[in-house]
Amino acid sequence: MSAQQPYSFFHSVERSFDKATKFTKWDSGILEQIKACNSVYQMRFPVKRDNGDIEVIEAYRVQHSQHKSPCKGGIRFSDEVNQDEVMALASLMTYKCAIVNVPFGGAKGGIKINPRKYSEYELEKITRRYTAELVKKNFIGPGIDVPAPDYGTGEREMAWIVDTYASLKPGEIDAAGCVTGKPITQGGVRGRTEATGLGVFFGIREVCNMEEVMKKLGLPLGVKDKTIVVQGLGNVGYHCAKFFREAGAKVVALAEYEGAIYCADGLNEEDVVKHRKATGSILNYPGATNLAKNTDALELACDILIPAALENVINGDNAPNVKAKIVGEAANGPCTPEADEVFAQKGILCVPDMYLNAGGVTVSYFEWLKNLSHVRYGRMEKRFTENLNSHILGQIEELSGKRVSDKEREFIMHGPDEQDLVHSGLEETMISATREIMSVWHSNPEIPDMRTAAYVSAINKVATSYAELGIFP
Ligand code: NAD
Repeated sequence: MSAQQPYSFFHSVERSFDKATKFTKWDSGILEQIKACNSVYQMRFPVKRDNGDIEVIEAYRVQHSQHKSPCKGGIRFSDEVNQDEVMALASLMTYKCAIVNVPFGGAKGGIKINPRKYSEYELEKITRRYTAELVKKNFIGPGIDVPAPDYGTGEREMAWIVDTYASLKPGEIDAAGCVTGKPITQGGVRGRTEATGLGVFFGIREVCNMEEVMKKLGLPLGVKDKTIVVQGLGNVGYHCAKFFREAGAKVVALAEYEGAIYCADGLNEEDVVKHRKATGSILNYPGATNLAKNTDALELACDILIPAALENVINGDNAPNVKAKIVGEAANGPCTPEADEVFAQKGILCVPDMYLNAGGVTVSYFEWLKNLSHVRYGRMEKRFTENLNSHILGQIEELSGKRVSDKEREFIMHGPDEQDLVHSGLEETMISATREIMSVWHSNPEIPDMRTAAYVSAINKVATSYAELGIFP
């Protein structure tokens, strides 16, 4: 952390960790080892700008934990990048992976640049040089450390990374598994784009299906007819709104940075995005009411509030005005610790970011497995399943003398393709993680909130893994 920086993100992660440790049985040595960042690689390298100037680039890769190999975490391009932030994000990755049972240690990378200020050619040179530096120090590889996209990076950068890695490691058969979030043509997996929003939906749906939890919140079981407010209509928010609407919930308000709109009958996110593209704003959407400020949406009466834009949007000032019964943290860090305290007093259930938005890393895990197995999901079984289903259906129809509708026939016959299997794996992951966290929470009435329960669940898994490795004889 730099001298001028008053706030340490890494220390705040450590504080949340410490808050949870008193609900575990592990000795302090193991807990200290889990908290520590195992390896911090800070690098500087030159890049020649398009105008001929030489610029020195500051970059990082932090491997927080190797209790499982490889380590995993995104690479961020932002001029806010600093060592403290990369360390904090790397440690959160360890806990996130543990909670959703993705067998990776946590890592994170960052390059301190504003990508908008560089040409595509300059960004390619920076990304390739960064990758080469990671290769030189053995900080990347399908069995070592597997980066992914984060703020300011996407498929394009991941394609540059895999290409650089493969060219420096000729003959490495699993080279495609050195990074995830790649384009499909470069070994990416279908279902990645919507993964985080879909994971948020699966996680909250599972909470809504828990009788005891819903009874305590005074809500009926299930997602159907629940009223939802979503802040941020980007990748995560858009897909959250879509999956909730498709499940029969009503998205009564949407907020973007230019404003917020409300419609008691429910909004269609796809139409709202079209309207925003056409007019440059979500405001004045036909049939909806404009809200005076975009933050007003956070204080609307609704069943589920989903902040899916930025960090710290619900804090000590506005948390007392939140009327939702459930807050689903789709964004990273949307609620401050002060907001958590208010929620606990008001009986609002906050479903924590660390696991709720883990759909991205879960599907990255599926991409890595695809790369190691060198075969597309569904390739081996799709046709077999369709033939089998067709035969079973034919027999049933013959014996019953009845025919199913064409729509039902299509559904029953369908053999799983890659996207079906990825969605199914994600659904299983989010359901299991939700149940595990809830069971930890219910096992100890002293645990104050679901966030702390999620940390306890993560600590128990990482500590068990260290203990089983025999690192602490
Ligand atoms: P995005 O850039 O696609 O979308 C964010 C949206 O929020 C944008 O449309 C932006 O205009 C809007 N926004 C900005 N300021 C706002 C404000 N004040 N009020 C309302 N809306 C505002 O980003 P994303 O990928 O959807 O990520 C959103 C959040 O989810 C981030 O916190 C991110 O870290 C987290 N997240 C994303 C993923 C992923 O797979 N994309 C995974 C885990 C966590």
